[in-house]
Amino acid sequence: MRLSFYSVSACTLASAVIASASSSIFNVANFESNDIIYRDVAVIGGGSAGTYSAISLKDKGKSVIVVEKKGRLGGHAETYLDPVTGTPVDMGVLVFHNITVVKDYFNRFEIPLNKADEFLTSEFYYDFRTGRPVSPTFTPSAEDVSAAFAAYMAQYSKYPGLINGTMLPSPVPEELYMPFGKFVEKYGTQAAIPSMYYFNPGVGDILSNPVIEQFRYWSSYMVGSVATDFLGPVRRNVSELYTRAEAELSSSSSLLLSSEVVHAHRAEGESAIKLVVRTPSGPKLIIVKKLVIAFPPKLDFLAPFDLSATEKTLFSKYIDTGYYVGLVKNSGLPKNASISNAAQYHTEFTFPYLPAAYSFAPSAIPGLQLVTYATGQTSKSLPLSDEAVKTNIINTIKRIQKQNPDRFTTTEPEFVVFASHAPYNLQVRSEDIRDGFYEKLYTLQGQRNTHWTGAAWKGEDSSLLWKYSEEIVVPQVMEGL
Ligand SMILES: Cc1cc2nc3c(=O)[nH]c(=O)nc-3n(C[C@H](O)[C@H](O)[C@H](O)COP(=O)(O)OP(=O)(O)OC[C@H]3O[C@@H](n4cnc5c(N)ncnc54)[C@H](O)[C@@H]3O)c2cc1C
Repeated sequence: MRLSFYSVSACTLASAVIASASSSIFNVANFESNDIIYRDVAVIGGGSAGTYSAISLKDKGKSVIVVEKKGRLGGHAETYLDPVTGTPVDMGVLVFHNITVVKDYFNRFEIPLNKADEFLTSEFYYDFRTGRPVSPTFTPSAEDVSAAFAAYMAQYSKYPGLINGTMLPSPVPEELYMPFGKFVEKYGTQAAIPSMYYFNPGVGDILSNPVIEQFRYWSSYMVGSVATDFLGPVRRNVSELYTRAEAELSSSSSLLLSSEVVHAHRAEGESAIKLVVRTPSGPKLIIVKKLVIAFPPKLDFLAPFDLSATEKTLFSKYIDTGYYVGLVKNSGLPKNASISNAAQYHTEFTFPYLPAAYSFAPSAIPGLQLVTYATGQTSKSLPLSDEAVKTNIINTIKRIQKQNPDRFTTTEPEFVVFASHAPYNLQVRSEDIRDGFYEKLYTLQGQRNTHWTGAAWKGEDSSLLWKYSEEIVVPQVMEGL
């Protein structure tokens, strides 16, 4: 088809209008001078990786501005405080590895650490769909579990590029993208599976996950901490870290809470990044040399950013899970033992069907049960509504009570607090891993003055995200600043 002169001119005119409209969005003349924020670096997302990166850059003498969607820092770290006694219950992040970056970070905010509490092992298993008790058929000895983790580690250790990122050999060996269930059979690591599964809700179907997605969470650090000890804050209040970071960043005008980027312009060169941000006190224009994106890179979350074709293609590959937690009162469930969901004939490991509640466990506040709920992998960012999850949990408790009147009293359970952590555990499918997804992903680092950190880049592990941010991302951001 030949375009007429008229249609070419119309197209040219239209694109000129769009270009000038979009450049006027970022025009400094449209903003009051105190609504224009000049900094070295903007960090978008003030969860684990974003807060760490901002504090680290600030400590290295760089000016930063953190833009966080919620009204608080911390992301998946969330602490409920009993309104009467002030007793804290960490409902999200709880434990950390005994490594330098963790000790230095807590020490910087004068928060003492000690050995984390033992996790309560589940004493009772019920099928939460029926409320009936389940007898796990696969109960390996402690020796078998250790041997299975050793066999797992022998394979994991072949890939040094996993120590601080997800750097895979090229071409990617099939061993890394085959289903984890196949790996388990091949290397005889069955005895490690119940611990891996119940320790980390939110991974979806562990046996169908590609091996690398399992490796990303179950790192050598994680296996080491499970075998020895994790660290936790002495006061058992992880959010203290974030309230202190919040105070420090606010006092240097380096934090915009309850704020979101609505337009972004990224280019190469100095002062090349311009962001229009919606804040509670009106729109702001941020002009920075570098950008750090530290929230889950799902396409719908990135919509306001001017994504390149490569960014769009890569980020469209992500699937994730829904992970939800809450504290329930008046549950009638055991006060000193946790109960977990299981299904008698579902896989040799009696794993539950998802989506469902994973477990109920007593919390530090007498009478309040900590519940976790998870879905399988999905391409939707927010797979279930909070109301649907809460209703399902309450119905599950009532079902367990009704089926076991000799063990549990009939009560009216109620949520005291509830939190959605969806989307969780961003991962990609086997064929994408085979086709070099992770290698392509890492080529994005630094392009258009944009750097990336967070769980999608390393794994769902706060300690290792701090290590990755400190040792890889922050030095790259510092280059040329
Ligand atoms: C219930 C639970 C328990 C866990 N327990 C542990 C544990 O004990 N130890 C451990 O190491 N790890 C634990 N994890 C995993 C750990 O929380 C994550 O690995 C870690 O928080 C990921 O950090 P992140 O910075 O990538 O994401 P997040 O911590 O989720 O931070 C992302 C931030 O970005 C913000 N955001 C999202 N979109 C935007 C936007 N458009 N603009 C601005 N801001 C935005 C979010 O509000 C959030 O604050 C747990 C996770 C959950 C859900």
